[in-house]
Amino acid sequence: MMGRDEKDQEQFFYAFNLDDHIPRDHLLRSIDHFLDLSGLHDHLAPYYSHTGRPSIDPELMIRMLIVGYCYGIRSERQLCEEVKLNLAYRWFCRLSIEDTVPEHSTFSKNRHGRFRDADALRFVFEQVLERCIVEGLVGGEGFAVDASLVQADASRRRHHEDDGNDGDWGGGSHAVVEYLNSLDRSIPEGGKQPMKVSQTDPASRWTALRSGATFYAYSTNYLIDTEAGIIMDVEATPANRSFEVASTRTMIGRVAERFAIKPKKIIGDTAYGSAKLLGWLVEKQGITPHVPVWDKSAGKAELYGRADFTWKAEADRYLCPGGKSLLRNRRKFKKKRTGITKAKTIIYRASQSDCGHCPMKARCCPTDPRRKIARSIHEDARDLARSLATTKAFAQSARDRKKVEMLFGHMKKILKVDRLRLRGLSGAHDEFLLTATAQNLRRMAQWLGTDPPRALAGALP
Ligand code: SF4
Repeated sequence: MMGRDEKDQEQFFYAFNLDDHIPRDHLLRSIDHFLDLSGLHDHLAPYYSHTGRPSIDPELMIRMLIVGYCYGIRSERQLCEEVKLNLAYRWFCRLSIEDTVPEHSTFSKNRHGRFRDADALRFVFEQVLERCIVEGLVGGEGFAVDASLVQADASRRRHHEDDGNDGDWGGGSHAVVEYLNSLDRSIPEGGKQPMKVSQTDPASRWTALRSGATFYAYSTNYLIDTEAGIIMDVEATPANRSFEVASTRTMIGRVAERFAIKPKKIIGDTAYGSAKLLGWLVEKQGITPHVPVWDKSAGKAELYGRADFTWKAEADRYLCPGGKSLLRNRRKFKKKRTGITKAKTIIYRASQSDCGHCPMKARCCPTDPRRKIARSIHEDARDLARSLATTKAFAQSARDRKKVEMLFGHMKKILKVDRLRLRGLSGAHDEFLLTATAQNLRRMAQWLGTDPPRALAGALP
């Protein structure tokens, strides 16, 4: 006979230990073991008033956000619901079975404002990274850098003609006000003014993919340690290559300043092979670049390219395939000139008479009276990068670079961060920091196991 349970739930009075109901190998147990938020209140103290109504406990907010980003729960309303119903989430958030979960509107209001002023999410990210370093997951030998586009929360149809007229935005949403207040419309070297500016999220950039898809987007920039794929730094930028490349310097500098870690080599794709960045890495930082050189000097296949000319450093000249010299100055000037152009290159020229009589002219400079070669002021750094590109170590670095791409894949497919929910550069900053924090915590949990060494029961209701 089929049994029927006819007990009345309302009659239950029981002792309930939440900890007993969370499996020993639950991901959140392990994450909890590696998450230390003991310094959070002190960090935030200067930003909170000592009077007035108490706000939501910042540690509770961070724990809820970590649950949300670890499990791909992006909606604040849904997150509050899930924490209310899921025992493991309650346990991780230090909530007893009777404790009230914040309302989503209050939660939403609290995570901005003072939280942002204090850059609380960066504080948490760095706390977690410090733990990764202490646990020995960061080798410090090689860092890899890359960027990935994430769609902004902006309508494709609503755009503003950005003519510099700040008063013509038809309203003052948070993202528009932030854009107008903080942006001086400066573009990093090599960048372009945007053609279209979103009216809902003006700091995002109109982007076209190879597939033909177009949308407004931000870029998340990751700097990872290649040993265990730990994210060393993350930076939100508008979706534009110039901003992405510029963020590399910011991230390397910040990691060196906060953690006194500077990698021996940096790994990146061709986008990071500009002369300026290579020069900075090699000449200023002493970092070996495992980066393909961004090089247009090869020219047409049937003509002599840069590689056919020999650089003679001690004589400050190139030797052409015909054995003639290309010099930076072919005549004397009264006032000494550096010869450096706006593009930060020095032009080396062959003699017009040498080229005019040369049998190889048709393969060298068929339409010009003489051959010229532009040499970057960072050419030594570019030469170093070129020489490394043929080594076995470089081939290994190319494989290591895939670890960043895998993290981006994980971010979009598993953590579901493929479209932002918050607007403005500060919104992108918050979301990318939380994603990177969640990924580092999950990585620590996966690499270092799930055995919780401390008595959690005592700390929980
Ligand atoms: S054309 Fe001029 S630069 Fe070219 S190989 Fe002849 S002499 Fe040298």
